[in-house]
Parts: sequence; structure tokens; C-alpha cells
Amino acid sequence: MPAKKLTVSRMFNSSVAMLFLNTIALLILSVTHLKALAAENEDAKKFVGQNVLIDLTRFGERIYGEPDQVAGAKLADLKGDTLQNPDELGPYLEGDLLIPNGKQLPFRNGLIAYSARWPGAVVPYEIDGRFKEKELAVINKAFKEYHTKTCIRFKPRSSEDDYIVITSDNTGCWSSLGRLGGRQVVNLQSTLCFRNYGTTMHELMHALGFMHEQNRSERDSYIRVLSQNVKNGAMVNFQKGSALEQYAFGIPYDYASVMHYSKTSFSKNGKPTIEALHLF
Ligand SMILES: [Zn+2]
Repeated sequence: MPAKKLTVSRMFNSSVAMLFLNTIALLILSVTHLKALAAENEDAKKFVGQNVLIDLTRFGERIYGEPDQVAGAKLADLKGDTLQNPDELGPYLEGDLLIPNGKQLPFRNGLIAYSARWPGAVVPYEIDGRFKEKELAVINKAFKEYHTKTCIRFKPRSSEDDYIVITSDNTGCWSSLGRLGGRQVVNLQSTLCFRNYGTTMHELMHALGFMHEQNRSERDSYIRVLSQNVKNGAMVNFQKGSALEQYAFGIPYDYASVMHYSKTSFSKNGKPTIEALHLF
């Protein structure tokens, strides 16, 4: 074989060998990495390969805390003539978002940045509150509305690991965001949270993973936040989401959404904090 041809042939063989070895090494690394991931956290395995995560990173640590009995008692004394919805008045992030301490998902980085959707759109529930009959009727009406208008199904829990429990504690109207795993609370303080039917729908939407409409990533094309009227320290409640974290499934911005706050939410002086940019 001529010398030149031999050199080319050796180079070719050498390149193929290197490529082969690199591929094998990458495969071994990938498999090892995946095994390490799975071994590191059994809970995380549930979500691997499924497009079910809900990104909560923008809320940071502020979404964690404890249900507030004192605030609940204060809210119970509110007069019924306020224009604001009771879910906007709570001491929690954006008024009504709370993941109780201890409910953090044990993801690898220790930062609780994700929750999840409900598999098959089925949400097992328990009702464990001292609700009046008409309040129970409101909760059942909300379930029925979900069942007739959406693919979501709320069903009484049998033995499912992950479920919501609807409670009536004096801690306001609040919910976590999405499925946290295990038992998670949707609190509807009796009778405060039943002033408006929409509050029950609203808190259940949070449990499904929906966030507030006025904080959608593209909201600046639809509303203006009037910061001069916002209570000191409350601008955090108007923090916009990122288009990378949230997806509206093609549904346009909706001023009339049950997830949209009222125009005086978090106002320090009774003047508007949210101004619509379009007539509707
Ligand atoms: Zn809310």
C-alpha cells in the first residue's frame, strides 16, 4: 500500500476509533448522571421526562411562610362594601399565594423552584373545614363549573398520595401554586372567602398552577401599574412573570379573568393601582 494511502487510512481509522470511544464515554457519563439524579432524589424521578413542571423561581423564598391567624381575624372584621376581593387582602405573596414551610419539594439544589401539574387533570380533594351548608354548596358549584367547562376533574380522594384539602381556618383565602406532592391546603376562611363566588374558583385555579393575570409577562401592553398609589413594600406583588416561566396556552390577556386583581389592589390611598390601557 502506498505510504500516503496508508497514512490517510490510519488517520481515518484513528478518527473513527476516537469518535467511537467519545460516544461510549458520553453514553456512560449520561447513564451515570441519570442514575445519580434518580438516586439522589426519589421525588424528582416523578417529574423526569414529563413536561409537568411549573416554574416558581420568580417568587423566590417569599412564597414560603406560615398561615397567619392574626391577619385572618382582622380580615374577618372587614366590611363587605370594599371593592377588593378578599383574596387580594391577605398578608401573603400577591395577597393569597402561600406554600407553608415544610412543604418544599426536595429538589437537588435545595431551592424550591418548581411545583407540578396534576396527572390526567384529576385533582383528588378532601373537605376538612367547618363550612356552612351554603358554603359547601359554593364549593360544589365551583367543582361543577370546572367539570362542565374544562377538562379538570375534582374527585373525592380515596387513597391518592397527592391531594388538596379545603379548610376553613381563620387565615384568609389562600392556596399554594400547582401540585406540591402530598397533602396541600386550599384555605377558604368562613365566611370571608364566600363573599364572592369567584374567590373559590380563584383559589382552586392557583392549586391547579395558574398565576395572577395582571402579572403575565406581556401585561405592560394591557395595563399600567400606578406605583405612586401602591402601599409601601407592596410593589413586589406586581412583579411580572417571565415568558420563559409561564405559558398562556394561546389565551390572550383577559381583563375579566377571575385571576385578575381589582383596580385598587394594594392601594395605600384608595386610588387605582391598575389602569387598563384599552377600553373593553
Ligand atoms: Zn390569587
